[in-house]
Amino acid sequence: MKENSDKLMEKIVSLCKRRGFVFQGSEIYGGMAGLYDYGPYGVELLNNLKSEWWKAHTQYRDDYVGIDSAIFKDPRVWEASGHVGGFADPLSECKKCNTRIRVDKELKNIGVNADEKMPEAQLQALFEENKKKISCPKCGGHDFSEMRSFNLLVKSNLGDFTNEGKNPVYLPGEACQGIYLNFKNVVDSTRMQIPFGIAQIGKAFRNEISPRNFLFRTREMEQADTQYFIRPNENKEAYEQVKKDRFNWYTSLGIKPENLRFVQHENLVFYAKDAWDIEYNFPTGFDELEGVHDRSDYDLNQHMKHSGTDLRYTDPSTGEKYIPWILETSVGMGRMFLAFLADAYSEEVKEDDTRVFLKLSPKLAPIKAAIFPLLRNKPELVGKAQEVYNSLKKEFKCEFDDNGNIGKRYRRQDEIGTPFCIVIDFDTLTDDAVTIRDRDTGVQERVKVAEIVSFIKSKI
Ligand code: ATP
Repeated sequence: MKENSDKLMEKIVSLCKRRGFVFQGSEIYGGMAGLYDYGPYGVELLNNLKSEWWKAHTQYRDDYVGIDSAIFKDPRVWEASGHVGGFADPLSECKKCNTRIRVDKELKNIGVNADEKMPEAQLQALFEENKKKISCPKCGGHDFSEMRSFNLLVKSNLGDFTNEGKNPVYLPGEACQGIYLNFKNVVDSTRMQIPFGIAQIGKAFRNEISPRNFLFRTREMEQADTQYFIRPNENKEAYEQVKKDRFNWYTSLGIKPENLRFVQHENLVFYAKDAWDIEYNFPTGFDELEGVHDRSDYDLNQHMKHSGTDLRYTDPSTGEKYIPWILETSVGMGRMFLAFLADAYSEEVKEDDTRVFLKLSPKLAPIKAAIFPLLRNKPELVGKAQEVYNSLKKEFKCEFDDNGNIGKRYRRQDEIGTPFCIVIDFDTLTDDAVTIRDRDTGVQERVKVAEIVSFIKSKI
């Protein structure tokens, strides 16, 4: 059963490190806050998640195409988007230990209805009224400095050779801007007609005030974004469909529906028509996993004004010109990774022993099949197992393991979520069949060597 507690988070973090899923960034130097590196199994899971997301949009759907835009962009992009002027979070500092807090999140934690999209003065007033009730997460103190806005954009000196840093080129605060910049290119170079979407997975960087909760809030992230371009005012039905599609995508890959919910934004930015979050029941409680936003024509309008390039779309059948409205979905891959891990983490208590297994969809599992010779000191078994392994690894990411007793080998694979363990035993040498053990049920099936690939394919 899933424990919705700090303990579960601790177990996940520990499993991630122990089994090579995720490591603290720059760990050998003491680690850097809000940065993580994916290890050998982690990168496989991350790539599988990206691949499923990518296929869902650009392969299974005819009305989406993908792009991959450069990380660095003309600095005017971030002025047009509003990030230079307004991409700020409310910051305050504990007067005793100098720990920085994000005011809106701390207010929320004590039950005050606050968010970063509120007018600054309103948030400031709420903070002043409630700050004695907030405890510093480090020292427990209640004495905080005045709230101020802190811009989250990260700057670089790309192309600036003056050593003065006067003309910063920003790292992207969100990945989606690359899609707006290429809207016209995509229309001009493909046969896409409105309504259609553009998908992208891109890097984003935010000087987060208090990165926390493992992969939930990091300073470097990857965002998987879709922007769906529609005719003005034709947003309502399409928006409901986009919301539904994203919810169903999660459940189709095994996330339990009861761990997901939609929450509507109470405070909308001035141009938005509607905004909902898909929240996941993280080990720390329900929180935003993905944003689904109905953004009107704001983004293309802004870039048209700031760049001077005509970004209007011409309807091919009527010749009508208009700026499309946009429906956006945006999810951080790290948050998604954490949600899938938390959902999959399972424990089975048997007498005085606990089996830990990741009940990941076989589509997502880092290793699809592990191949074991029953005994490592029997060359005929090892040889046959290697033969099976060498043929299977051309089809799937597999692992060969002959170390320790079979029980231990099963446990090692369970912990990383391998759905199928294949044992080559003495009977294999005569009947050319293997035993395939299912990770979740422990049920074993005898399958002909020639049929292993189709057996696994049928499950993924
Ligand atoms: P939050 O309120 O949690 O800061 P946001 O509303 O600013 O998030 P968006 O700008 O809408 O988030 O970003 C879209 C998605 O990108 C989020 O739903 C989340 O999955 C992801 N994301 C945003 N910030 C971070 C972060 N610091 N670390 C990891 N993922 C993030």
